[in-house]
Amino acid sequence: MTEQHAQLVVIGGGPGGYAAAFLAADMGMSVTLVDPEANPGGTCLYRGCIPSKALLHVSRVINETREAESWGVHFARPTIELDRLRAWKEQVVGQLTGGLGQLVKQRKVNHVHARAAFRDDTTLVLTDEKGSESILTYDHAIIATGSRPVTIPGFAPGAGHIWYSRQALDLNEIPKRLLVIGGGYIGLELGSVYATLGSEVTVAEMMPTLLPGVDRELVRFLSKRLGDTFKDILLQTRAVNPKVQKNGIKITFEAEKGAPAPQLFDKVLVAVGRRPVSDGLGLENTDVKCDDRGFIQTDEQRKTAAQRIFAIGDVAGEPMLAHKASYEARIAVEVIAGLNVRYEPAAIPAVVFTDPEIAWAGLTEAQAKAGGMAVQVTRFPWAASGRAATLGRSDGMTKLVIDSDSERILGAGIAGPGAGEMIAEAVVAIEMGANVTDLGLCIHPHPTLSETIKEAAEIFHGTATHIFRPKRTK
Ligand code: FAD
Repeated sequence: MTEQHAQLVVIGGGPGGYAAAFLAADMGMSVTLVDPEANPGGTCLYRGCIPSKALLHVSRVINETREAESWGVHFARPTIELDRLRAWKEQVVGQLTGGLGQLVKQRKVNHVHARAAFRDDTTLVLTDEKGSESILTYDHAIIATGSRPVTIPGFAPGAGHIWYSRQALDLNEIPKRLLVIGGGYIGLELGSVYATLGSEVTVAEMMPTLLPGVDRELVRFLSKRLGDTFKDILLQTRAVNPKVQKNGIKITFEAEKGAPAPQLFDKVLVAVGRRPVSDGLGLENTDVKCDDRGFIQTDEQRKTAAQRIFAIGDVAGEPMLAHKASYEARIAVEVIAGLNVRYEPAAIPAVVFTDPEIAWAGLTEAQAKAGGMAVQVTRFPWAASGRAATLGRSDGMTKLVIDSDSERILGAGIAGPGAGEMIAEAVVAIEMGANVTDLGLCIHPHPTLSETIKEAAEIFHGTATHIFRPKRTK
């Protein structure tokens, strides 16, 4: 068995792993990246963020042609060439993963196409796709093995009519009747894509609302629109007992009251969450500890209980988002390089790329209330935005959570098209400790949706131009 040594080994080539490998190489370390794929990219590029957003863009274009009807502009009903659409999505993925492959070469990162498992705290066994094994010892290791979908008993992945996000993104067919189990962001994004491509989509969600855990006030805008996009949204409803029949798959529904009758679907997409890939890594041979959900436990420097081993990204805890993984990569690498840094973001943005988009960052109104904090919440309805009117999309809101004493921006939430792009301004404001006066004094371009952030800040002083909200006296 061959044996090699690396100053730093990164296990997993997703947005956590490749960001760590690249930064470490930029800082002069000799880096080995272990990932089975031909190029880095991980879940995000191959079967997550990127392919889903490429398809959501198509969905948005189709929806815009429909919206134009009400302005007297008529397009013919679109015909979908599925092979070309799939090829385009794959080309986007190929372009980005290929680009990362180039960056691996330019930075002289040693990419080993294999799976890694720990033999002990300082040694890994690498197994390539032919089953050949080699040994790698290291000074430091970063685990960035990501997550995989949670499965439901009876709904086995890959079995005929059952899809998980990966199969939905393969885009092999547009089912006539699609059931989405799970009203979280992955289910709603992929359900929206298929609904626009022509499927009759039903969503079943166990909880009383879509996007459980997200600000209700923002979700209301989405629920209203999805009520038209989807055939049915079944809340507080469980989908159980799948029975494959000649003409589809029959699903029974359970609800405390008024469960609908069993229904036939052509495909069922299960999107009920993701769990960390911390099994099969030989962690039992190391001092690394996991919590009861399987997330690797780390300190604020992303160090595990094993002194030389770090963990980042989905495998190291919520929120399971690509940009959080890349941010943690920077912390772990800088700590390994000897810098005294720690993980303490004030705002991790999250975006649901549906129509309308929902985005938030920092403290939510509910968190502030639960924590008994003295905050003021300002809301700027898009009905008062000139730009929203020109887009025919007044169905949105920009909301700020503001510390009552310091007047600093602590959180922001936005519902509306483009919310995902806009939330970055709020992240900068929160991280830089900006207050409402700072935001109000920044000249925002007109007419843009970004003005809604400025006006939401001005509401605090009762001076927003396009809405009358006199300052509340205490
Ligand atoms: P991953 O990207 O999961 O990468 C882990 C890598 O490790 C994989 O390549 C895997 O093959 C490799 N690996 C696993 N085990 C081993 C081993 N033993 N040896 C070697 N390699 C191994 N996030 C967003 O921020 N925005 C979005 O819009 C978004 N959309 C999404 C849509 C979908 C449909 C899905 C499924 C996810 C989406 N996510 C999104 C989540 C995002 O993909 C993850 O948060 C992100 O990929 C996590 O990065 P990571 O580096 O931790 O792990």
